[in-house]
Amino acid sequence: MHSKYENFPPRPAWTEINLGQLRRNLQLIRADLPRAVKFLAVVKDEAYGHGALEVARMAVEEGAWGFGLSTLEEAMHLRDGGITAPLLLLGERQEAELEWCVAHDLTACVNEPQNIRALARIAASFDKRVPVHLKINTGMSRYGVRWDEAVPLVEEILAEKSLRLEGVMTHFAQSDETDKTFANLQIARFDGVIHRLMQKGIHIPLKHLCNSGGFLDLPHAHRDMVRVGILQHGIFPSQVCRKIAGIAPVMSVKSRIAAIQIVKPGESVGYAMRYTTPSERRIAVLPIGYGDGFPRVRNQGGALIHGQRAPLIGGVAMDAITVDITDIPQAQLWDEAVLMGKQGDQEITVHELATLKNSVTYDVLTNWRLRLRRQTVNRCANKHELTALEITSA
Ligand SMILES: *Cc1c(COP(=O)(O)O)cnc(C)c1O
Repeated sequence: MHSKYENFPPRPAWTEINLGQLRRNLQLIRADLPRAVKFLAVVKDEAYGHGALEVARMAVEEGAWGFGLSTLEEAMHLRDGGITAPLLLLGERQEAELEWCVAHDLTACVNEPQNIRALARIAASFDKRVPVHLKINTGMSRYGVRWDEAVPLVEEILAEKSLRLEGVMTHFAQSDETDKTFANLQIARFDGVIHRLMQKGIHIPLKHLCNSGGFLDLPHAHRDMVRVGILQHGIFPSQVCRKIAGIAPVMSVKSRIAAIQIVKPGESVGYAMRYTTPSERRIAVLPIGYGDGFPRVRNQGGALIHGQRAPLIGGVAMDAITVDITDIPQAQLWDEAVLMGKQGDQEITVHELATLKNSVTYDVLTNWRLRLRRQTVNRCANKHELTALEITSA
């Protein structure tokens, strides 16, 4: 991504990817999953901002069968990086993309007769028989053929000699909340389709429904494969879902103190004078802002410096935030500050930032921009073996 600039001195604001923790999360997920169930690692949007190629390479080592992606470009990035495992393009393809899919062995999800015929024609012209997955809409009402109209479409796919119906899938609208009523309705609709296919003697190798929430809380829906995204990165999809001990966040966001100001009582800090000092305050400026994906809050949140919380004061600018370090007298210029993650026994969680943003953890993770260079830490030379203790405590 940054090859041309790789040797520049790093900017004093960055994301840190803990590869040892990533490996541990992948191992704990794999160990929790019955052997016969395949693991599709969802690495769309740069693996939720963690670096898709790095995550994919490790996931291959830890037993991932294949990868879930959103865009053609994301899939080609992995192919170019040497990933040979199946790449499943979630979502819908434009007809113009299908030739690429066939040429580079990218597996498309299909839900629409015209695309199915186009894909079959292109595959035939390449002299290939290509795998496809049919997406069934069981209540999400986004992509996919309705559950009560799915059987004829399966028959259309089966009639195409250049296509191989490798999978059928659906996606939950809600899988990680305590009330599983709607998820169970979706499972029942999906099962209805599978049952009707079985009566016709049609067997589909890969039936899959579960995202992270489903993987954790709906074991009766695991079937042949689960599609796990956010959990790999150590974030549980909700506060109430089942927890696996040892799974922990992989990404931190850090910066350094770039300036220190002593502000006299009654003076203001930042744009629009949104903060006035009640007494003399010592203020640290951190060179990170909403242009890096930091939530645009004012007088809320903060940073960890010397293991203590420094409250954010004033507004968040494009390239800077100001935090109060009056109670952290040992803080000096260029000391490290943590904006997301742990320092000492303090932690700013992704959930906390999501609450600040009035959004969800997925949004916080994927919104850190590439202007923050990714630094990988804790890279293990050898595969770190999971101890029996770690597995049983899970
Ligand atoms: C993003 C996505 C997933 C992964 O969801 P997580 O909640 O991050 O595990 C699974 N399936 C589909 C179709 C998706 O779009």
